[in-house]
Amino acid sequence: MTMSEDEDRDRMIGNAMSLLLASSRVNHILHDAVLEIDKEMSRLRAENERMTAWVEDLQSGMYVNCVYCGHRYGPGATTPVSMSDALREHVEQCSEHPMSALRAEVDRWVEHYADLLITGLEIESAHNNLRKSVQEYIASELAQ
Ligand SMILES: [Zn+2]
Repeated sequence: MTMSEDEDRDRMIGNAMSLLLASSRVNHILHDAVLEIDKEMSRLRAENERMTAWVEDLQSGMYVNCVYCGHRYGPGATTPVSMSDALREHVEQCSEHPMSALRAEVDRWVEHYADLLITGLEIESAHNNLRKSVQEYIASELAQ
C-alpha cells in the first residue's frame, strides 16, 4: 500500500467511526425521548381514568349539559352509555366547545408519536446496518 492509500484508508475509517458515533447518539436520544413520552402517556392515562371515574360519579342519575351550546342528555336510563361518555361524544364534535379543538390536537400528537416511533425503528435499523458495515470494513482493512 502507498502512503496515499494508507491516508485514504485512515480517513475513511475515521469518517465511518464519526458517522457511527453520531448515529449512536441520535439512536440514544430518540430512545430516551420515546421512553419519556411513554412514561408521560402512562401517567396521563392513569390520571384520565381517575378523573373519568370521578366525573361518572358526579353525573350518575343527573342531566348533563354542554356548557357552551346547552345540548342536554339524561337522566341516566335514557342514554345507553354512561352520561360522561354521551357528553364527551357531543363536546368532541361541538363547534362551540374548546374540547373539539383539543381532540383534534390530541389526534395530531398521536399521529406525530406514531411517526416518531416508526422513524426511531428506521434509525435503529440503519444504525445497526451501519455498525455492521463499519465493523466488517475495519476487520477487512486490518486483515490486509
Ligand atoms: Zn355543545
